[in-house]
Amino acid sequence: MQPIKQIQVSLGDRSYEIMLKAGLLQSLNNILNAFCSNRAALVVTDSNVEPLYGEAIDRIEHCNYSKFVFPAGEKYKTVETVAAICRKAVAAGLDRKSLILALGGGVCGDMAGFAAAVYMRGIDFIQLPTTLLAMVDSSVGGKTGVDLPEGKNLVGAFWQPRLVIIDPETLKTLPVEELRNGLAEVIKYGMIRDWKFFRRLEKNSTGLKQLDLDFYTRIIARCCEIKAEIVSRDEREGGLRAILNYGHTFGHAVESLSNFSIAHGAAVAMGMAAAAELAVLLRKIPGNYAERQNSLLRTLGLPVRIPPGLEPEKIYAAMLHDKKAVGAKVKLVLPVAEGAVAIIDDLDSKLIIRAVRNCCD
Ligand code: ADP
Ligand code: ZN
Repeated sequence: MQPIKQIQVSLGDRSYEIMLKAGLLQSLNNILNAFCSNRAALVVTDSNVEPLYGEAIDRIEHCNYSKFVFPAGEKYKTVETVAAICRKAVAAGLDRKSLILALGGGVCGDMAGFAAAVYMRGIDFIQLPTTLLAMVDSSVGGKTGVDLPEGKNLVGAFWQPRLVIIDPETLKTLPVEELRNGLAEVIKYGMIRDWKFFRRLEKNSTGLKQLDLDFYTRIIARCCEIKAEIVSRDEREGGLRAILNYGHTFGHAVESLSNFSIAHGAAVAMGMAAAAELAVLLRKIPGNYAERQNSLLRTLGLPVRIPPGLEPEKIYAAMLHDKKAVGAKVKLVLPVAEGAVAIIDDLDSKLIIRAVRNCCD
């Protein structure tokens, strides 16, 4: 039997562990024993995940838990749902020593985490991510929040979980387009921080396509290590953490101009292609390096061309509106060497637009 992989996120007295193993949900009762005994807990999950994995929760014996199930989908990631979670917490008798657990994808984790951050000025929180995107990205690092009609993630808080429990078995039921959303982030980690890891992905792309769970367990572990290292060094995005936005400044613009009809992973893939193209135009990397990234993205079913109808000038204008843009300057993360990126903010708008145009169909 494989041992449980344990990855430490070092943040002083807010440090926590990521536990990772295929089949781990089966042992949830034992794992939570140390955390939960005799505490009231609220499990937040969505209407897709509850019928699939809710029974793992039903086997928890050590705490007095209640469930809050919200309808699946980003459109419920609102302050209203957070208010409903908090009201359910009151009804279920949660106090300042109680606990909120998030069982689901990024939407669930972001929202339950935010509820935990504000309920009685902050209570303990555990993440049980069930999408690849949440496993490798949103469940680690402490960003929580909800959307407003005016834009995504406009209300939120940094609130670190006490524990992250990852069971890659849950990926078996995940729709392939949701898996791809996570794969875009996985490739991103190779590009920003670990070239050896990128080469492993290239070599094992079949394992990725066929959902080889052993391989997934190892790659999720590496992604969590990279994210843990980055977050430990820069919790609040003062500097280094910004490299996690590789592909995202272009990607967010594409997502919002498409009215979110283009999925996050697809938009980030297009964004990484545009960032690499810009780096080629700036002679920071050779064309064949950009092509290597794009080829892996394509192999895993991710798009590297921006579809017709999205104009380069409009994409640039949307990038200026991104909440991470500083003043009227776009701060971009660009590849500069194998497995390394740099943050560059003094770029000529014409060149950015040209790079985007070169990636448009
Ligand atoms: P993300 O993790 O990509 O940020 P969501 O939390 O919205 O986004 O999850 C994406 C979709 O996948 C949702 O419809 C959610 O209900 C569903 N989902 C989450 N985990 C699983 C799973 N393990 N199996 C099947 N569907 C899942
Ligand atoms: Zn992302």
